[in-house]
Amino acid sequence: MRARKRFGQNFLTDRAVITRIVATMKPTPTDRVIEIGPGRGALTALLLESGCHLEAIEIDRDLIALLHESLPELNVIEADALKFDFGMALSQGPVRIVGNLPYNISTPLLFRLFAEQGITDMHFMLQKEVVERMTAEPGTRAYGRLSVMTRYYCEATPLFSVPPTAFTPRPKVTSAIVRLRPRRHDPAAQDTNVLASLLIDAFSQRRKTLRNALGKHLSEQELASLGIDPGVRPETLSVTDYVNCANLVTERKSEAQ
Ligand code: SAM
Repeated sequence: MRARKRFGQNFLTDRAVITRIVATMKPTPTDRVIEIGPGRGALTALLLESGCHLEAIEIDRDLIALLHESLPELNVIEADALKFDFGMALSQGPVRIVGNLPYNISTPLLFRLFAEQGITDMHFMLQKEVVERMTAEPGTRAYGRLSVMTRYYCEATPLFSVPPTAFTPRPKVTSAIVRLRPRRHDPAAQDTNVLASLLIDAFSQRRKTLRNALGKHLSEQELASLGIDPGVRPETLSVTDYVNCANLVTERKSEAQ
């Protein structure tokens, strides 16, 4: 069966890498696990061997038929992971999530999962460059919206790199495994939608100063009142700085109502 580019299909074929991912995750028989994009079942078979309660979400019907044959005990849900109701699954108890994610949906999927409550942890294979952006420090070139959102919602640990030779077909870029552990950020954003919209504007033109990038949300005086220099670039602000900015906007909005 040919790999479908539109579904971001690069199948893991290197046994050592497959074993290392599952050994790092350490699933146990009491875990409920959701795998996103099981594909031909490379990770799935080993996950099942651990005895965990596994459900897999796959969009490609041909692969689902293949999985029914090769892993008949597997509960496969035919769905688009971007539309799947994770909240419903999480209402029945904590869930661990794992996946070699299709590169074309990874960022929107991460943003969706960040907003969910009750996920124990997530182990994802992503493009290495995406993992670098997720875990970048303020003041570096890789630091941006994804870094702030990831740090706000999770503790992110880059684990190891995976070369293109571990896949069929081979992707053009190196991949990496990241572990995400959801946590509460202190201070919390009063309205995470405000935080998200502020970040879009802050990082859409990185060369602008903060006074210009965030001008429609906050005045220079308001930025200064938070101890933030309006003349700096957006990538120099910490997550806490952005949360403080968002909360000032939220408070002003609620006062105006
Ligand atoms: N887990 C397998 C492996 O490691 O060999 C396959 C990984 S492949 C990179 C991504 C998988 O996600 C494919 O099986 C693809 O069909 C599936 N997929 C792509 N888009 C999806 C979506 N929106 N929802 C669910 N699965 C999707």
